[in-house]
Amino acid sequence: MNTKPFSRRRFAGALALAAGFIGLRGRGLVAQAVDPAHLSAAGHVTGSEYDALVKICFNENPYGPPASVREAITAALKYSNRYGYPDGDLLEAIAASHGVKSENVLIGSGSTEILEIAANAFLEGRKKVIGAEPTFSAVYEWATGLKCSAIRLPLEADFRQPIGAIIKAAKENRDQIGFVYICNPNNPTGVVVSKDDIRALLDGLPDGMPVLIDEAYHHFVDNPDYATSIPYVQEGRPVLVTRTFSKIAALAGIRIGYGVAPANIIQRMRPYYDIMSVNVAAKWGAAAALKDTSAQQKVKSDILQTRRNTVAELTRRGFAVIPSEANFFMVNIRRDVRPVIHDFRQRGILVGRPFPPMLEHLRVSVGSDEDMSRFLEAFKEIVV
Ligand code: PMP
Repeated sequence: MNTKPFSRRRFAGALALAAGFIGLRGRGLVAQAVDPAHLSAAGHVTGSEYDALVKICFNENPYGPPASVREAITAALKYSNRYGYPDGDLLEAIAASHGVKSENVLIGSGSTEILEIAANAFLEGRKKVIGAEPTFSAVYEWATGLKCSAIRLPLEADFRQPIGAIIKAAKENRDQIGFVYICNPNNPTGVVVSKDDIRALLDGLPDGMPVLIDEAYHHFVDNPDYATSIPYVQEGRPVLVTRTFSKIAALAGIRIGYGVAPANIIQRMRPYYDIMSVNVAAKWGAAAALKDTSAQQKVKSDILQTRRNTVAELTRRGFAVIPSEANFFMVNIRRDVRPVIHDFRQRGILVGRPFPPMLEHLRVSVGSDEDMSRFLEAFKEIVV
């Protein structure tokens, strides 16, 4: 069944905007530059040119999947010719890992697909999405694509999301709001919404208003003020939590993520769901990744160590870095990031796109130690 009113082709543009992609052309995703200057600077690269680039622009996992996951994917390839095949009991495994039932989980081709389905389901009837700016803007782009719109509220001065303002605007516009979007931790800042603020939000919003809490970077958080919002699903609140295997489990190119919500919310989303969208390699890879918790712990500790080292070096050089709880951070370079992004690209380094209105903050994903050495070397030449 494909009842999606919003085409995937159009989404490639939304993703490119959200991710700020800079002119790579792969076999699948053809992402476009936000700024044509990026495109001409990067050109189109393939194969070894791509491999040589330092890719710290998309908050990807620099290490790749662990052996357990690679083996599971390789073994699953024997089912490549099938529509019906054993799927590693992924749905049940995800549900069990969160203490919910299978009816509370929807698996998608990346969490992107779940965001897309949520936008289609919750914005029906020209509703609006409400959230912070800047954030992971794909949902706002979806809204535009659906001829709906977004109410985007500026971050607080300390870069926290404006929970009070969101509640106020949601109440004032209650009939028009389809859902609230909260990215926790937020992309691009890496700042978390505390568990107290999440509670205040859910308690303060009009009854029944759906809240999408995007926990793509959940696994990197080390802050006792933060907590996952999945317990609210168990309470039956109108909350949809999205998670991805792209980051901690390094499966961005394999494409798998999921949403967890009360059964009535999942039911609302089902008409927009494509049961064929997740492939066999993704299912088996994700099932293996769920089991390999020690591999995930190692990714977390290595990324956090590399982030600490990089941030310490930038701070030592006098640049303020927004304290991040994710596998990326923003550094204030005290000048427009746009030409600087171009200069990094000239040196084979892809850094994050501009995130208006934070045009003097450069978003940098945490890559391998070698990636970060090359970044810091270039930073000294370009910015210092
Ligand atoms: N949410 C956030 C906050 C993201 O940053 C991303 C990707 N960068 C996604 C969702 C989508 O991830 P995926 O589709 O790979 O699961």
